[in-house]
Amino acid sequence: MIQITMPLNFLGSMYRNIRQAMVDMEEMFTLLEQPADVVDAPDAKPLQVNGGALQFNDVDFAYDPERPILKGLNLSVPAGKKVAVVGPSGAGKSTIGRMLFRFYDIAGGSLTIDGQDVRDVTQATLHAAIGVVPQDTVLFNDTVRYNIAYGKDNATEQEIEAAAKKAQIHEFILSLPDGYDTQVGERGLKLSGGEKQRVGIARTLLKDPPILLLDEATSALDTQTERDILGALKAAGEGRTVITIAHRLSTISDADEIIVLQDGHVIERGTHDTLLAKGGKYSAMWAAQAEDRVAAQ
Ligand code: ATP
Repeated sequence: MIQITMPLNFLGSMYRNIRQAMVDMEEMFTLLEQPADVVDAPDAKPLQVNGGALQFNDVDFAYDPERPILKGLNLSVPAGKKVAVVGPSGAGKSTIGRMLFRFYDIAGGSLTIDGQDVRDVTQATLHAAIGVVPQDTVLFNDTVRYNIAYGKDNATEQEIEAAAKKAQIHEFILSLPDGYDTQVGERGLKLSGGEKQRVGIARTLLKDPPILLLDEATSALDTQTERDILGALKAAGEGRTVITIAHRLSTISDADEIIVLQDGHVIERGTHDTLLAKGGKYSAMWAAQAEDRVAAQ
């Protein structure tokens, strides 16, 4: 019997690992929209995370050598701090996320996590250290429990519920016909964008990465949904280093630092209050979005 169950267990865990990798990749593609074409250095070492401080030093990057996208980007996120990146469409915000994941190699400068260059560490350990909360969470046609449990192998019921509570989706799940056993996805109950995102946040919380990359939804959400998601993201960010790629400025006003990116350069940086007082690009963006907010009411 043992002879049969051992390989079955092995196959089961291999299957889970492959599906987990697929979820991670799908989520990253949603955010990053690019396949990985970078390979580990022959002597690549595991990334040793000690707080998760991120440092972009004079980073140059171009998808096409004729057209530079990041031009001498300097960005520093101390361990456990929250930095938001804002700027016009095409400024290079999502590209910063792609660099962090090392989906492409940079053309100049360096990018380190706790002092280790991302080119010197294995991609498996790099990706394990970074949790992504994308705009669109991919759900399996399975139960809510299964969809959250994907964040961690052998997650216990308590761990799953604790993650759901922190992601502010637990009460909603309990209100579903079969609670955590409710089938969701295309062939089950269809969740709203905000509910799906909170399931995704719960999944990421179970993974428990030291670094979080948040990609905010571009589309306007209704006030309640926005409030729920903000609360969940705030809880998710506690004790982690967080980079938020933000489209709506109202959601990032408490960031430790806001970076305004334009044309691959940081044109302004500071807290919400200092940037507003400065009366530059950020305050103009804030004023424009305030008009939109009023118009939408
Ligand atoms: P948005 O707010 O619209 O999402 P963004 O600031 O996130 O924009 P990026 O996605 O980082 O912008 O793109 C920066 C620039 O790089 C854009 O001009 C875009 O067209 C270009 N770009 C993005 N991906 C590729 C690619 N795979 N190949 C070539 N150019 C690309």
